[in-house]
Amino acid sequence: MRLRCCLLLATATHAFLARRLALLRRRTACSAATTTTETANATLLACAQAPDLFYLGDNETLYLRYLNSTRQLQNAKVEPKTIKAENKELITQLWRDRRMIVHDKAAYRKLVDGGDTATTQLSGGCRRAAAIWDDNRGPDEASAVDYIKLVKPELLLNDRRPTRDDLLVLLRDFKERYPYYRGACAVCGSETEFVGEIKASQSEETAAKAGRVELRSCDCGHVTRFVRANDVGYALHASRRGRCGEYSACFLSVLTALKLEARWVFDTTDHVWCEAKLGGEWVHLDPCEASLDEPEIYQGWGKNGTLVVAFSERHAEDVTAYYYPDQSKDVATRRLKDGLTDGALRAALAAYETRGAGYDP
Ligand SMILES: [Zn+2]
Repeated sequence: MRLRCCLLLATATHAFLARRLALLRRRTACSAATTTTETANATLLACAQAPDLFYLGDNETLYLRYLNSTRQLQNAKVEPKTIKAENKELITQLWRDRRMIVHDKAAYRKLVDGGDTATTQLSGGCRRAAAIWDDNRGPDEASAVDYIKLVKPELLLNDRRPTRDDLLVLLRDFKERYPYYRGACAVCGSETEFVGEIKASQSEETAAKAGRVELRSCDCGHVTRFVRANDVGYALHASRRGRCGEYSACFLSVLTALKLEARWVFDTTDHVWCEAKLGGEWVHLDPCEASLDEPEIYQGWGKNGTLVVAFSERHAEDVTAYYYPDQSKDVATRRLKDGLTDGALRAALAAYETRGAGYDP
């Protein structure tokens, strides 16, 4: 049986990979003499019975369980393949074609853009901030107004300036209404296991402006698709599911709908929140924590800050020292280790502020 599977794999997946790799070798041969490719290895699992879908990660059991629940495969076996950074084109093509589930997200980023450093994350943060402010993904005031009407409609009266207490009421209500999604099964509500991420389907791209979807496997046999929505209306009124990414964009819309100056705040240690200008001062607001004006909360969690940037529509400011006041020496060391110089940071933030069409940080 094992031999037969290997033979099947040889025809189905090897041929595909071999063609791609041969193509890549030809393409990279010219530049090989002048550039050295830093090798990053990751495991790609392939299954002969599902030749159209690969799995980046080494959890064979999880991959088979997913294939079984979606395709009713019997006795399927998978074969691991080692993928290196020089196969970047193959990896990105598989992703674009929705032919790859990424379980090992860190390995994916290492293969595609050199890995999670403050520098690569800064690019990602600038890109997301620009999407929020430019593509009507974040501040969606019509959707936010519908929400505010449910909680504190009087705030929508023209002469009403929201106070800190008003915002605290909103934050507390928001957290209750929109709890942080921890992966409950959409059918039975049980805890699920993270299978991986896949590129969003075309309909999910349209409805939720989503780039990716998290797949979660449940013992009941159902696979839940957690759509990582960039569309505020979708997160607030359709899926009603999110984490800090979705909820920070939603709450930013709430703030701008209340005619407050607001910023979207990006922390490279994987968290995002908001700020609003109250009485001339930028004040911290975290919709996942129902937290207002507690900037040191993250330091208190034991997080090691490296870079926190607050993005308004046309301004970007390094606010790391405000959120990690006791870590200035360590922040400098961590930035140095990640190759993020003051000059590079200034240049990235200036590029965000002066961005035009085709901005690609
Ligand atoms: Zn279930």
